[in-house]
Amino acid sequence: MVVGVLVELSSKNIDKVFDYKVPDDLVSSIKIGIRVIVPFGRMELEGFILEIKEDSELDNLKEIIDIKDREIILNDELLELGNYMRDVTLSTLISCFQTMLPKALKAKNGNVINKKFDTYYILVGDYSEIKLTEPQQEIINLLKNGEVLRKNLVDISLSSVNTLLKKGIIEEEKKEHYRLDYKDFKEDKHILTSEQQSVVDSVCDNSTYLLYGVTGSGKTEVYMELIEKCINDGKTSIVLVPEISLTPQMVNRFRARFGDRIAALHSALSDGEKYDEWRRIYRGEASIVIGARSAIFAPLNNIGIIIIDEEHSDSYKQSDPNPRYDAIDIAKWRSKYHNCPLILGSATPTLESFARANKGVYKLLTLPHRVNGKKLPEVIIVDMNKEIRKSKGHFSPILVESIEKRLSLSEQVILLLNRRGYASFVSCKNCGYTFKCPNCDITLTYHKSSNTLRCHYCGHGEKVFTKCPECGEESLNDLGVGTQRIEEELTNMFDCRVLRMDFDTTSGKGKHEEMINSFRNHEYDILLGTQIVAKGLDFDNVTLVGVINADTSLNIPDFRSSENTFSLLSQVAGRSGRSSREGQVIIQTYNPDHYAISYTKMHDYLGFYKQEMMIRRSLKYPPYYYLCNIKISGKNSDYIYGEALKIKRSMERNLHNTIILGPSANTIFKLNNVYRYNIILKYKDVNVIRNYLIKIVDHYKANSKIKIDIDFNPRGI
Ligand code: ADP
Ligand code: ZN
Repeated sequence: MVVGVLVELSSKNIDKVFDYKVPDDLVSSIKIGIRVIVPFGRMELEGFILEIKEDSELDNLKEIIDIKDREIILNDELLELGNYMRDVTLSTLISCFQTMLPKALKAKNGNVINKKFDTYYILVGDYSEIKLTEPQQEIINLLKNGEVLRKNLVDISLSSVNTLLKKGIIEEEKKEHYRLDYKDFKEDKHILTSEQQSVVDSVCDNSTYLLYGVTGSGKTEVYMELIEKCINDGKTSIVLVPEISLTPQMVNRFRARFGDRIAALHSALSDGEKYDEWRRIYRGEASIVIGARSAIFAPLNNIGIIIIDEEHSDSYKQSDPNPRYDAIDIAKWRSKYHNCPLILGSATPTLESFARANKGVYKLLTLPHRVNGKKLPEVIIVDMNKEIRKSKGHFSPILVESIEKRLSLSEQVILLLNRRGYASFVSCKNCGYTFKCPNCDITLTYHKSSNTLRCHYCGHGEKVFTKCPECGEESLNDLGVGTQRIEEELTNMFDCRVLRMDFDTTSGKGKHEEMINSFRNHEYDILLGTQIVAKGLDFDNVTLVGVINADTSLNIPDFRSSENTFSLLSQVAGRSGRSSREGQVIIQTYNPDHYAISYTKMHDYLGFYKQEMMIRRSLKYPPYYYLCNIKISGKNSDYIYGEALKIKRSMERNLHNTIILGPSANTIFKLNNVYRYNIILKYKDVNVIRNYLIKIVDHYKANSKIKIDIDFNPRGI
């Protein structure tokens, strides 16, 4: 017997299936989709069996050394999916398979997980003829309802347990101990509103549905109802949520309704815990999987529905490393494979998604109202150009007054500090002016080494001014402010308890959930945080949401900066006034007339959509054109720039109907002594582009001085 093995070697030029002979004692264990250990040069490597055959065309085959799995870990579906992923991301097949599996199943980590076992007792023998003591009777009564943990019976009476064991009435059973302990959650199932019900009734075939529902419109309730229908049909479900910050509240609500049918795959779990959850899913012990991006690969059979909540979130796209896949694409593929619906839910869908719904590519479902007729909160825009001089620190008088009022009423406040992204840009502290690229309408990035401002889409460059061209003040360069500083200002101004939440304070395991719970229990008055507080949280007692600085996300050098700002502000505004009390939102900004801000004030997604679509059309951005970012990196800046130019020229000769920008310096131009350039393509037909890029990737495969990474439909460049 010969097997074709795809070996685990992350080097870019080895992504091949090699033939190996199978020694006689292993023949009976060989299956496609298990891992084996094989000799490779002087190394021993792990690999996946992808083929089984009688013979090979090659002579002198080496033998496989051992097998690693008794059960198949890559089933037919995942094998096919891997090929699809390789084709759409242009990365190696092995990297695609590795991405699908929990870390613990990847090379090297394979053996470190020790399984833990719990001892249970079950009722097996006939006790009708036996005279039972009181504790014995008690034990049997418990076991009549099913297995019971050893510990709980021994607490009643160890000697009775032993007697019953000896008489063969009860038996011991060992079951794998899963590392997660689930608390009990109770949530009442709501009767759906007629809007919710009609959404549920509309979902029928394997289409992609866009569920556009305002914040608090009861989307989660709709998801749960759809899942319950699946359970009744004996089918399984996947629910994706953006990131761990959203997961505890969501998971708790799901667990309250569906109990331990839920498996949660989120990033706060240790590798061991993730592996436990993966195994529960694999064995069919969990039928509903909730998790972040990679949960889309959950090894479920018979999937009845896939739900992607907050579909606009960047986190569904893997930006780094390869394979740079989009979980929504994977979801579409699996929904076709399982012939089941895919639901994309959001209060602020991406322009691409909403445009698809308008064209009928997706089926549009809407929830235009909050549940029980609750109003969307009133939004007040504060013009900081006027208010900054009257402000205390970063707080305008109206925000101060409103916080004071909420505190006096024992209501709670959420404050968002909109932190800038990765890039540094120059802006005017006085009027908020930022420098933009005349070609791309993208905020220019500051490059310290050359003291210039550059567009990292097209490469356009300008020298830095010290005076603001708008207001003439010498007040350029805003150093930005952190949550700690705002916290100090708050505690100086008010007698209040501030809970600060950002990526630094939530990194501990379970920390985030703990914080959410303590805020819910009103151990704090104000929740202050970065983007993390905007997402999905549902607190009854919050009646004021304040945005300290709306502009930072507007200035991020990304063609989506308006969309991202609108989405962020609408999402955070949606945290206010979710109970019977009316909510208020106060947004401080230097750009009060910017449409991303004024449409937030009016809660007008459609208005924003129309205006933004016009801009996208005139500047040839998605959804009118697709984007692809070719990342070219290496240690020798001159050399890679030269090669990048060659690539660009050859593309100009060969790719028609394609706009080619760059090469331009990446926003993070130099990292660990590696220089990075981008070439950005705007195109209409992906097939032409893909075939050409395959050639380029191939051409540089064996060249160790340069690395080419392809990012289709990038989120952030
Ligand atoms: P969304 O996900 O759209 O923001 P949720 O599903 O979180 O909205 O619902 C908002 C709130 O309304 C939650 O507290 C939820 O329990 C409640 N809710 C949802 N549907 C109903 C309903 N049909 N009847 C009563 N309350 C509901
Ligand atoms: Zn430009």
